[in-house]
Amino acid sequence: MSSQDAPLPPIGLPEATGRSRLFAEPLHVGRPNLADANELLNDFRVILERRWLTNNGPCVKEFEHQVAAHLGVRNCIAVSNATIGLQITIAALGLSGEVIVPSFTFPATVHALAWQGIRPIFCDVDLSTHNLAPASVERLIGPQTTGILGVHLWGNACAIEPLTEIARRHRLALFFDAAHAFDCSHRGRMIGNFGSAEVFSFHATKFLNTGEGGAVTTNDDELAAKLRRLRNFGLEDDQVVDVGINGKMNEFSAAMGLASLRHRELFIARNHSNFAAYRDVLRSIPGLSLVEHPTTERRNQQYIVVDVDRHQFGMSRDELVTALHAQNVIAKRYFFPGCHRVEPYKSAGAASTPLTNTEALCERLFQLPTGTAVSRNDIERIGEFLKTLTARARHAA
Ligand SMILES: *Cc1c(COP(=O)(O)O)cnc(C)c1O
Repeated sequence: MSSQDAPLPPIGLPEATGRSRLFAEPLHVGRPNLADANELLNDFRVILERRWLTNNGPCVKEFEHQVAAHLGVRNCIAVSNATIGLQITIAALGLSGEVIVPSFTFPATVHALAWQGIRPIFCDVDLSTHNLAPASVERLIGPQTTGILGVHLWGNACAIEPLTEIARRHRLALFFDAAHAFDCSHRGRMIGNFGSAEVFSFHATKFLNTGEGGAVTTNDDELAAKLRRLRNFGLEDDQVVDVGINGKMNEFSAAMGLASLRHRELFIARNHSNFAAYRDVLRSIPGLSLVEHPTTERRNQQYIVVDVDRHQFGMSRDELVTALHAQNVIAKRYFFPGCHRVEPYKSAGAASTPLTNTEALCERLFQLPTGTAVSRNDIERIGEFLKTLTARARHAA
C-alpha cells in the first residue's frame, strides 16, 4: 500500500475536542519568559518594605542603567509600554503632518502616530526582510512628510543605512519601533543605537518582559531629557514646561525586567534550540518554510514565522491555523490583514493603494509557539501533526 492509500489517523479536525486534542492545555505564542519566581518574590518584598513603588525609583534607575549598558547606548528611558514610548518619541521629535510607516506591523505602531494627530502613510515592505522597502519609502515622501518610522520586524533590523541616507537627504526624522528587537544586533552594533531613537516593548509576550513596559533609547542627550519630561507630565523639577503624559514604569515591572536580564542567556538559548527543532521538523513538510534571517547577527529568535504555500501544503494558511487551534496549538496570524486594511485607516483611503508584498505576506505567514514554555517534545508533536495534516489534505485533493 502506498502512503497515499494508507488510512490517516483521525486528527485532521476541526472535530477534535477534550481529551482527543494534541495538547490538553492551550500552547500559546508569546507565553511569558519568566525569571525564577522566588527571586522575584524576594525583589517584590524589598520594594514593598522600601515603600517606593514608582516615580523614578531605584529599580527603574538600575533597569535603565543595565539596559543602556547592555545596548551600548547613552540613554534609556523606561516607560509604561511601547505604545506610550512611541507617542512621547513622536512628540519629542516634534513631528506633524505625515509619517511613513509599514502597514505590516502590529497596529500600535500606527495608532501611536494617529494619537499624535499624524497621518500614517503606509509603505510596502521587502518580501525577503519583511521590513520597509527603502525605494518605496522614497516614492512616498511628499511636502507634508516629517518622518519615517521603521519597524525591526521579528527582531530583524530594517535597511538602516539606506533609510538613514533617505532621511538625511529629505531632512526627515528617522526612528524605529524596536518592540521585537531587544538583544538583537545590526552589523555588530546593538539595536537601540539607530535613528534618532528606538522604542522597545517589554510586554508579557515579548522576549524580555516586565509584565507591561517598554523603553526608549537614544544617543541624543537633549532628546533624552525631553523624553524624560514627557514621560512625567511635562515636569521639570516642580515646573510644568510641556504637555506631558504619565508614561512611567513602576518598580515591580522594573524588578521583573532586572530579573529577566539576569536570565536573558537562558531565554535566548531556549529560543535558539526551539528554532533548530522547528527547522528540523519543518524541513520534511512540503509547503511550509521557516522564515530565517542572517545568523551573523545577534538574534533573540523570539518568533517562529512560517510561510505557507497552500498548493504544496494542500491547505490555506487560514485552514491550517484553524486546524492547529482545534488541537490547542494557538498559532497566530501576525499581521493580518495589514494596518491599511483596518479601521479607521481603511475608510480614510489607505486600502486603495496596493501594497503587493504586504498583502502577500498577510495571506501566507503564521507564527508557532516558542519560548521557555515550549519544549522540543512539544515541537516534535506539532511537527507530526503537521505531517499528518498535509498528507490528509493532499489525499483529499
Ligand atoms: C507589541 C508591539 C507594540 C506595542 O508594545 P506595547 O508595549 O504592548 O505597547 C508595538 N509595536 C510592535 C511591532 C509590537 O509587536
